[in-house]
Amino acid sequence: MVSKLERPAKRKTPAEVAALFATFHAANPNPTTELAYGNAYQLLIAVVMSAQTTDVAVNKATAQFFPQIRTPADMLAWGEENLRQAIRTIGLYQTKAKHVLALSRLLMGRHDGEVPHSLPALEALPGVGRKTASVVANTLWHEPVVAVDTHVFRVARRLGLARAASPEKMGTELQKNIPVAYLCDAHHWLILHGRYICKAPLPKCGNCPVDKMCQSSAKLPLNI
Ligand code: SF4
Repeated sequence: MVSKLERPAKRKTPAEVAALFATFHAANPNPTTELAYGNAYQLLIAVVMSAQTTDVAVNKATAQFFPQIRTPADMLAWGEENLRQAIRTIGLYQTKAKHVLALSRLLMGRHDGEVPHSLPALEALPGVGRKTASVVANTLWHEPVVAVDTHVFRVARRLGLARAASPEKMGTELQKNIPVAYLCDAHHWLILHGRYICKAPLPKCGNCPVDKMCQSSAKLPLNI
């Protein structure tokens, strides 16, 4: 696996990391998720549905039923078949529909229908791993946790924030290397940077706000 990864950039010093996040902060002081949601339950199931799927596709699917399905009880009454039909345009929809029904049952049984404010309790829900739990806790409660998805992983290595070769180790390194003041928003800044600027095959280096601080081998001379 390691041999297929881009070579990580030289690790930045703490002062360089701070300067990098100051730039992200200046450009976007209040970053947040692009998933649409109206309450904690809807965010939780939107994040579950976003695995290997774009936020745009998830928002298109959830817009059909979020106005009337706002709680686990609503979802259980509506049923798995209706959910499956509504989300059939997104990847892994059958498994995701099963997980959403199962986690809704658990929320009703264990948490009075509320989303638990606890990473271990979130991770105990069907279809909710460390990444999903971290995104929910960070977005809802501003917990200083950096969830690592494919964008965060790539961007962190290109920018020399960390050099880990696995998402698990990357999360630990980022928690350690990012200044506390920026930890709450780091996940969103890195995701948005990876989604729109520092793209996987062809990064838009000509539009990059942190290009002067980038020493990545993926850096391109022109805006493509
Ligand atoms: S300069 Fe290019 S490779 Fe470096 S962070 Fe910016 S977009 Fe990514």
